Amino acid sequence: MSTAEIGIIGGSGLYKIEGMTEMEEVKLSTPFGEPSDAIILGELEGVSVAFLPRHGKGHHISPGELPVKANIYALKSLGVERIISVSAVGSLKEEIQPMDLVIPDQLIDCTNGRESTFFSDGIVAHIAFAEPFCPVLSQILFEAADKAGAKVHRGGVYLAMEGPQFCTKAQSQLYRSWGADIIGMTALPEAKLAREAEMCYATLAVVTDYDCWHLDYEPVTTEMILTTLQKGIDTAKRILKRIIPLIPSKRDCACATALKNAIVTSPKYIPDRAKKDLDLLIGKYLDR
Ligand SMILES: [Zn+2]
Repeated sequence: MSTAEIGIIGGSGLYKIEGMTEMEEVKLSTPFGEPSDAIILGELEGVSVAFLPRHGKGHHISPGELPVKANIYALKSLGVERIISVSAVGSLKEEIQPMDLVIPDQLIDCTNGRESTFFSDGIVAHIAFAEPFCPVLSQILFEAADKAGAKVHRGGVYLAMEGPQFCTKAQSQLYRSWGADIIGMTALPEAKLAREAEMCYATLAVVTDYDCWHLDYEPVTTEMILTTLQKGIDTAKRILKRIIPLIPSKRDCACATALKNAIVTSPKYIPDRAKKDLDLLIGKYLDR
């Protein structure tokens, strides 16, 4: 089967990447079900890339129903070590304006009931998550965005909400008081599961609106998002083309060894089923 070095997860508005060559669609199934859609394998700027439209073709999967474990596992099984995710977000800060881009460096989890670990049902692991986004990949993403001439904010707190409804004004103000900079529905559990799978993960957030806290702007609606989104997505596509050649082939960040010493279950107590389903992730640690 073909493989890929870089994975791109496209959010709202990003359903294909122009300029990808030698394209091949692969339909994968994983121990955690089927990914959101077939994964498009191809080359971008001479590098092998796997593209997955997060919400599926035609945007039919709601944020809370995304098969994130299958998505991350499927990309891992293709050899992907780094994931760049593109997401539409609302701004919770005056200075982060619609059409800006943000490369967040922190997360607040306000999702509810989403499956957010590969380690359950008889196996326990605690990964470090103090820095939820890969700092190396995020920095390269920032440089690519800057070179592409985009107005981009380096760092920021992404608050992941459950949705699919937008916030009330009271919630929006509460999240502002917590110091959150942007709000979206999809960076979690993607970031957690990517780290558990020892993959680097960085987010390019496209700001489409001021959520509903700003007195000078109408509260966000889907129509508003779709109107502003397309231009931001065009910029995101230019940035993706620029970042691919900038990514070094070797990783020296902590993401690559996130599971080392994180699995606390004694190997002899790990159920056979977990050993089988998670072999792609933990096999190298169990063989010792
Ligand atoms: Zn990393």
